[in-house]
Amino acid sequence: MKTVNDFNFAGKKALIRVDFNVPLNENFEITDDTRMQAALPTINKVLNDGGSVILMSHLGRPKSGPEEKFSLKHITNHLKDLLHTEVLFSGDCIGSEAKDKSNALLAGEVLLLENLRFYPQEKAGDKTFAKALAELGDVYVNDAFGTAHRAHASTAIIADEFGAEKCFGFVMAGEIKNVQKVLDSGKSPVLAILGGAKVSSKITIIRQLIDKVDQIMIGGGMSYTFAKAAGGKIGSSMVEDDYLDLAREIMEEAEKKGVDLLIPQDSTNADAFKPDANTGVSGIGEIPDGWMGLDIGPNTMKAFADAIRNAKTILWNGPMGVFEMDAFAKGTKAIADAIAEATENGTFSLVGGGDSVAAVKKFGYQDKVSYVSTGGGAMLEYLEGKTLPGIAAILK
Ligand code: AMP
Repeated sequence: MKTVNDFNFAGKKALIRVDFNVPLNENFEITDDTRMQAALPTINKVLNDGGSVILMSHLGRPKSGPEEKFSLKHITNHLKDLLHTEVLFSGDCIGSEAKDKSNALLAGEVLLLENLRFYPQEKAGDKTFAKALAELGDVYVNDAFGTAHRAHASTAIIADEFGAEKCFGFVMAGEIKNVQKVLDSGKSPVLAILGGAKVSSKITIIRQLIDKVDQIMIGGGMSYTFAKAAGGKIGSSMVEDDYLDLAREIMEEAEKKGVDLLIPQDSTNADAFKPDANTGVSGIGEIPDGWMGLDIGPNTMKAFADAIRNAKTILWNGPMGVFEMDAFAKGTKAIADAIAEATENGTFSLVGGGDSVAAVKKFGYQDKVSYVSTGGGAMLEYLEGKTLPGIAAILK
């Protein structure tokens, strides 16, 4: 896997695809700069070598053409502060302004291009647009894991223009290395914890993981489909009736393959989907009519925490309950606590995919797990075993 470490950028212009899709408030101030911070090591590597940097990114979802609120100019000042150096800006990502400014770049200088998605050609993966971008730099670096599952012009198509002069940045390399560490060389027992709302959105991942891990723990909304499939009564809990057969198949497949499938024993229930609902606990297959399961129950929390403490490699995707409401966040918190404890004792833990990352942040546990993946959708597709265009384009 070629990374920026395999290049000496002295006298070269690195065209780096970063993920600067940061949230901005109504005054165009950045409310979370995690993604910008993540890209700094790659940018600094080029600058320290004596190269110059041209940064390209998308921001938000512009409909068709430029929109003030999605301009990347809003982040220029913060980028200057983070890099402790001047950052030039081009109001167009291709064309004469971008070309003139990149041609004039000196060693140690940084140029930020305007939002790529002001051109519909970006998402369309347009070759001519990709070529126009490619003209700006000598070496192409992809460091945007969050968009690695898209075959966009700047994330994949552009790579063809660079021959061998292309590589991964540190963010991309870190993501790939850490998932591989779980999927291919994880120390046993390898435990996958899967939660979240729906079986339908996680089914491919569960299938894929059955061949890779020793234990799979199921929590969150999807565990009620499993409980119903096993013959339980689940009241008005979230359920996907179309997936009952598939849930049964998965239970059988896990048994056949010797994979321990851990399904919750008990459930914390509510009489309404709201933070101040009345709550109660029951067996997961004995939920009274009119009640819905919104979190794993106390016995499950204990059993799951024990299994987590015994695991040597952990992958966590998806919350155990409706963690956004404090009354139903206990299960997710208990899992996060146990993962933090296991990690402290030497277990490798990777947290990936949208809501579990949000949960880890909510509890302030980012530094208590081994690795937090930055790419939601990209991480999920990677776990599903799909080839990500952004990765394939560099490896080609
Ligand atoms: P996902 O995007 O599939 O990871 O799902 C995350 C969402 O699932 C979160 O917003 C949770 O509130 C929700 N969720 C977790 N457990 C339950 C449950 N028992 N009932 C309804 N929603 C749930």
